Amino acid sequence: MLKIENLHATVGETAILKGLSLTINAGEIHAIMGPNGAGKSTLAYTLGGRPGYEVTEGSATFDGQDLLALEPYERAAAGLFLGFQYPVEIPGVSNLQFLRESLNAQRKARGEEPLSGAEFIKLAREKAALLRMDMEMLKRPVNVGFSGGEKKRNEMVQMGIIDPKLALLDETDSGLDIDALRIVGEGINAIMRKGDKAVLLITHYQRLLDLVKPDFVHVLAGGRIVRSGGPELALELEEQGYEAVA
Ligand code: ADP
Ligand code: MG
Ligand code: MG
Repeated sequence: MLKIENLHATVGETAILKGLSLTINAGEIHAIMGPNGAGKSTLAYTLGGRPGYEVTEGSATFDGQDLLALEPYERAAAGLFLGFQYPVEIPGVSNLQFLRESLNAQRKARGEEPLSGAEFIKLAREKAALLRMDMEMLKRPVNVGFSGGEKKRNEMVQMGIIDPKLALLDETDSGLDIDALRIVGEGINAIMRKGDKAVLLITHYQRLLDLVKPDFVHVLAGGRIVRSGGPELALELEEQGYEAVA
């Protein structure tokens, strides 16, 4: 589904990704762990096509398509979803407006009919319930006045509605209390644990991986993957730290 080969990327003038390679197949859940400043968020932003993140070498294909040649909205329409480490607030735009526009724009780009208002509300209710999010919150402006944990849950409501093929989730577990962590973990499983989908979880903590069991764990350090293994690698990291393991 996603094949990244020898990816080099710069932010501003600074080289951050330095030869990163990673392959993710349909049905797989991968976790990326690594010290602060390793380039984890840079990887997510580069794959999402955020302006200012420039690829200088290497390739990334998504379902065989050259991902890096696509505009950010085309990447989204192709089925790529980014859950942000720091979700942005959008004053003046309600969650429901934002999600309906996003979903229907993506459907249009894929040549599908837009959902009617009634169909959309039904879908939004279902996904809000899955994440135990009150529909009243979805009527409020995007993330404005939401707590850190509510923002992360809201990201997962968005993911449920958009129903992507591949989700890159950047520290979705940070800022969550124990109950919210469970809700988010179960939400990720319900939405994404399907044979035709895949997930890349960026996280510092085993506690998320106890809920969303990864098939593969990778250590990102110095802009490349320095070690890969199974779920046991996360436990080893938790015990010994990055320096000993990577
Ligand atoms: P991680 O998510 O692994 O903690 P990031 O991808 O956020 O790391 O950052 C990787 C490195 O890139 C850090 O050293 C950070 O300071 C640097 N960096 C991030 N954004 C910028 C920027 N806009 N300009 C210059 N350097 C940046
Ligand atoms: Mg960080
Ligand atoms: Mg980060």
